[in-house]
Amino acid sequence: MSDNQLRLVWIYPDLLSTYGDQGNALVVERRARQRGLDVARLDVRSDQPIPTSGDIYLIGGGEDRPQRLAAERLRRDGHLQRAVQNGAIVFSVCAGYQILGHEFVNDLGQREPGLGLLDVVSVRGEGERCVGDVLADVDPQLGLPQLTGFENHQGVTHVGPTARPFAHVKVGNGNGTGDGTEGAYNGTVFGTYMHGPVLARNPQIADLLLKLALDVNALPPVDDRWYEALRNERISAAQQPA
Ligand code: GLN
Repeated sequence: MSDNQLRLVWIYPDLLSTYGDQGNALVVERRARQRGLDVARLDVRSDQPIPTSGDIYLIGGGEDRPQRLAAERLRRDGHLQRAVQNGAIVFSVCAGYQILGHEFVNDLGQREPGLGLLDVVSVRGEGERCVGDVLADVDPQLGLPQLTGFENHQGVTHVGPTARPFAHVKVGNGNGTGDGTEGAYNGTVFGTYMHGPVLARNPQIADLLLKLALDVNALPPVDDRWYEALRNERISAAQQPA
């Protein structure tokens, strides 16, 4: 980060923004400002180049066709990979998560290359679509409380040896592989199937991204009563029998 300014890049809102994912950008922006940071937020449409100078990049979910278009354009652009090589932080949701991996199955039923930024491979699930509330315990190395989210995906994601599962589900499907894993991460690159928007439900993840960007271990506390009320409501809802 330079000049006390956080550069937040929201990738392809025209293609990838389902189930309130734009809330993730709003939450990171707000929590950075609450800590006195100047925030430059760039919403980059899919016909625009991705800047390489971002500190935090967010990518949301999407339907199958926009997901293929986004993957094609991101591969052609090539700048996100360069930004990650330079230490940028990437937080991705669902379709965005699949795109960061080695490959996924596109809307034409073909294997579509991803960006290879996470050691995951996604296939099309043979079973029912994974839809519903999620409760998940995060990898203890990340020091976050139990997460709540909402998933809606057909893809099933296998996590390879150089990535770690982001969390393990208590409720819901997560990666859909039957081993309870949810999402994946490696270094500064994160992927999850949780919408919600997930950072509004779990602002501690937004703070984790900010701490990585600022290279600090702690941030000044902010008033989280509203978030806590939402979180408690969603935990009880997720625990109700379907
Ligand atoms: N199209 C992808 C799937 O169904 C991702 C869906 C999403 O982003 N919600 O697996």
